Amino acid sequence: MAKPVVAIVGRPNVGKSTLFNKLIGQRLSIVDDTPGVTRDRIYGDCEWEGRKFSLVDTGGIEPSASDVILSQMRAQAQLAIDAADVIVLVTDIRSGLVATDADIAAMLLKSGRPVILCVNKCDSVGEPPADFYEFYNLGLGDPVQVSSVHGHGTGDLLDRVVEYLPAEPEGEEDGELIRVAIIGKPNVGKSSLVNRISGENRCIVSDIAGTTRDAIDTEVENAYGRFILIDTAGLRRRNKVDDSIEKYSVIRAQMAIERADVCVIMIDATVGFTDQDSKVAGLAHEAGKGCVIAVNKWDAVEKDGSTMTAYRKKLEEDFSFMSYAPFLFLSAKTGQRIDRLFELIKHVANSNAMRIATGMLNDVLAQATARVQPPTDKGKRLKIYYMTQASTKPPTFVCFVNSAELFHFSYQRYLENRIRETFGLEGTPVRFIIRERG
Ligand code: GDP
Ligand code: GDP
Repeated sequence: MAKPVVAIVGRPNVGKSTLFNKLIGQRLSIVDDTPGVTRDRIYGDCEWEGRKFSLVDTGGIEPSASDVILSQMRAQAQLAIDAADVIVLVTDIRSGLVATDADIAAMLLKSGRPVILCVNKCDSVGEPPADFYEFYNLGLGDPVQVSSVHGHGTGDLLDRVVEYLPAEPEGEEDGELIRVAIIGKPNVGKSSLVNRISGENRCIVSDIAGTTRDAIDTEVENAYGRFILIDTAGLRRRNKVDDSIEKYSVIRAQMAIERADVCVIMIDATVGFTDQDSKVAGLAHEAGKGCVIAVNKWDAVEKDGSTMTAYRKKLEEDFSFMSYAPFLFLSAKTGQRIDRLFELIKHVANSNAMRIATGMLNDVLAQATARVQPPTDKGKRLKIYYMTQASTKPPTFVCFVNSAELFHFSYQRYLENRIRETFGLEGTPVRFIIRERG
């Protein structure tokens, strides 16, 4: 089950980032310390009353010029509508209710998404100030009074958030459902692929109020299993969301990635590899997701007998930072190799969720260290006492060593490769956590 997403939206300066930091910094356990690619931190993993969810601060993409605030606010709200399970609209008691709040509230209300209205900067505890009541006019139900600076009311806010989170599936019955995010820069053919896969009838998604996210995502079932194609970019809408603002498209991609088990990183064969491709792929890599690199528009490439081999070789260099990811040359237009795509997605999802028994892991460790001796420095040799898998998605291994300093990257790489070879961990990043023990 993918973690639910809770998005914070609101005008500039109402206190969104203060609230975000308060929520992930203090009251909640921070699970996620993955370094991101976009340097503003907009994602945090949260837990409240035993429920886990991701919190997104859409304010990381704030407009500066005041004349574009409203249009950008709408884009921001649309992002939340597309990708969040619960939306927290933050307003400010000091500035009171303003027209932009009402505009955004109406938009959120129309989406049918659960929205919680937060009235921030209510710094004094007790009865709300008189101005508080005007926020009822937004039609979003009881506002929650919060002071993000002091932390008052954040517990009430989280209680409300948790109330609205989608029900947790019982047991593991969701285990077979694989969530797939198709990511890539504009025009590589993401929508074409989704349309191709979902078939003509299911492409039509209405924009009417009450459309739920599950209706926007596409569920597919085929010989390889059941899949959810995550749609954060409005892939199947006739008018695609305007992602002209680079930051928005990055956040869209990030939101899709967070919810996914597997990312299909799509590039355009007719254009070749670009910096933007590497940025998108980097997001999936850092999020620890299963990855497949889909080289689309293969139909439009002029080929002779060695074109694919040469192309692959070049791409292997471009994507050397994620050498575990398999490539697939396909065409959304003709349907070439789309079957194979699902086979790969399934395979990569299995790698990403793989759990390796400690005994087997330490057998591999023993063989590996016997074959290539661990490094030494000034007469001291690295000793790896023990290894165990701490978690999955991605597979994360804890290594107990005598000296972290001696555990050079190259030796980690070597071990990683031995583990990958032995257990067939294709298509997933893996992580090592190094623990020193005297
Ligand atoms: P954002 O633009 O919506 O992300 O707003 P910020 O989080 O950057 O906050 C804008 C300003 O409001 C900053 O000066 C914050 O210190 C202040 N602020 C945020 N929350 C509160 C609050 O609960 N009480 C008071 N008094 N000030 C706050
Ligand atoms: P998106 O922005 O990534 O969703 O890309 P689109 O699906 O809108 O496709 C962008 C353009 O590429 C459109 O003109 C498509 O018809 C074209 N296109 C998509 N897939 C293929 C393909 O496999 N082969 C060829 N030749 N064109 C394609």
